[in-house]
Amino acid sequence: MLSLHSVRFRITFWFVLTVALILGASGIFWYLSLSRSLHAEVDERLLAAARGAAGVRLELGREDLPLDLCRELAQRFELAGKKNVLALLGRDGEPICHSRPSPQDIPSPSSQILQQAALGTPQYVSVSGQQRAPLRLLVYPLYDGARINGYVVVGASLEWVERILDRLWTILLIGIPLPLLALALGGWFLADRALAPVAAIARTMESINTENLSQRLPGADEKNEFGRLIKNFNAMLEHLETSFRRVRQFAADASHELRTPLTVLRGETEVALRWTKNPEELRRILESNLEEVDRMSHIVEDLLLLAKSEVGEIPFDLKQVNLSEMLEELYLQGRVLGENKGVAVGLNLPPDPVIIAADELRIRQMILNIISNGIKYTPSGGRVDIRLEATDAGGVVTVSDTGIGMDRENLEKIFERFYRIDKGRGHGESGAGLGLSIVKWIVDAHGGSIDVDSEQGKGSTFRITLPAAGPQQQS
Ligand code: ADP
Repeated sequence: MLSLHSVRFRITFWFVLTVALILGASGIFWYLSLSRSLHAEVDERLLAAARGAAGVRLELGREDLPLDLCRELAQRFELAGKKNVLALLGRDGEPICHSRPSPQDIPSPSSQILQQAALGTPQYVSVSGQQRAPLRLLVYPLYDGARINGYVVVGASLEWVERILDRLWTILLIGIPLPLLALALGGWFLADRALAPVAAIARTMESINTENLSQRLPGADEKNEFGRLIKNFNAMLEHLETSFRRVRQFAADASHELRTPLTVLRGETEVALRWTKNPEELRRILESNLEEVDRMSHIVEDLLLLAKSEVGEIPFDLKQVNLSEMLEELYLQGRVLGENKGVAVGLNLPPDPVIIAADELRIRQMILNIISNGIKYTPSGGRVDIRLEATDAGGVVTVSDTGIGMDRENLEKIFERFYRIDKGRGHGESGAGLGLSIVKWIVDAHGGSIDVDSEQGKGSTFRITLPAAGPQQQS
C-alpha cells in the first residue's frame, strides 16, 4: 500500500528528486553551452563576411555602382540565400544596395546602432519579427582613409540555430522525464527489496509475545547491516526467553518449596486438633511445627535476599577484612559441625595475613555455606580442608572435601536457584537449593570468581578467588 510516510516512498522520492535535479541542471547547462557556441559561430561568420566585404574597395559615392553589387558580395562571402542579407549603407545610413529580392526585407539598423558603429566598433544586433525568422546583424563601419563613409550590414538567419536548440529542448523534455520515470519504478522496486528484511522483522515482531518467545528471525547469518540487526534482535529474544523461563521456573520452584512444609504443618496441626489429648504429645507436635516454620522462614529470607540482590538493593558494608582471621573462626565453627558427624576439618593458612576489602558478614556467610555443604555431603570418616593462599590480586580460598562429589553434568547447574542434585544424597540434610545461588551472588558482587572441581564418589573442591580491592575494582 502506498503511504507517503513509508520509508520506501521516501527513499524513492528523494532518489528521484536528486537525480531530477542533477539531470535538470546538466540539461540546462548543455542547452546554454550549445546556444552560446552556436551564436558565437554565427557572429564569427558575420564578422568574417563583413571584413571580407570591407576589404573590397568600395567607392560608395559613385553614381555608377553596379546594381547587383550587394548580391555579388553576398555570393562571394557566403551570405547568399534569401534568409541572409548583405546591404551597403551610405554615410548617413541611407541604403545603397542590398542582396534581398524585395526592398522591405532590407534590415535597417537603428540610428543608435549606427552611431555606435560610427565610433569604430562593429555592432551586433539580433532582430526578430513576427513573420520574419530571427536574424543576427552586424553593422560594420567602412572607412575612406580615416573617415567613415558608410556601413556594410551583414545578417545571417538564426533559424537553423533555433531549430537545433528547439530539437535539443525536445530531446531534453523527453529524455529527462523518461529515465526519471524508469528510475522511480526501479527505485521503488529496489527500496522494496532492500527493505524486505525490515518488513519481515516487523511481521515476526508483531507475532512475538511472552507466550512464544522461542521464535527467532531468519537471516541472522547475512553479512549485511540487517543480518547484524537480526542477530542482535535474536540475541535479545534469547535473553528475554531465558529470563522469562527463569522467572517462571523460580515462581514454580518457590511455591513448590513452600508447599511441602505447609502441607506437613497443616497435617500435623489437624492431627493435633482432632486426636491429641496428651499435653506431651501436643508439645512434640508444636515443636515439629516450629521446625517447619523455621524452614519456611529460611527459604523466604533466602528468596528475599536473592530477589533484592537482583535489583541491586542490598548495600555492601565494605571494610578491610582479615581473611586469615575470619577463616580461623570459620574453621572452629566447622570443626564443631564436623565433630557431630564424624568429619574431620583442617585449616591451612599462609604465613602472612590476607587482607581484602569486603562486606565481612556476607563473605563469612558465603564461606560458611561452602564449608557446611562440604560437611553435609561428606560421610562420616571423611574430611574437609580449608586453605587460604595469598596472590598478587588478593586471596584464594579453597574448600575441598572427600565426600560424595558430583558428576560433570550437575557441576554446571549447582549455582542455579533451587537446584539440588538428589534430595536423598544429603542424608536428609539437603536444603532448598538456594545456598550456592547466594554464594555465587556474593562472590560476583565482590568482583571475585568461584569454580568447582568434583568427581562423583571422590569429593569436591570449591575455589573462590577474592580481589583485594573488593567490588569497586569491577565498576
Ligand atoms: P542445598 O541447600 O540443597 O545444599 P546448595 O545450593 O547449597 O543447596 O547446593 C546445591 C546442590 O549442590 C546440593 O543439592 C548438592 O547436591 C550439591 N552440592 C553442593 N555442595 C556439595 C558438595 N560439597 N559435595 C557434593 N554435592 C554438593
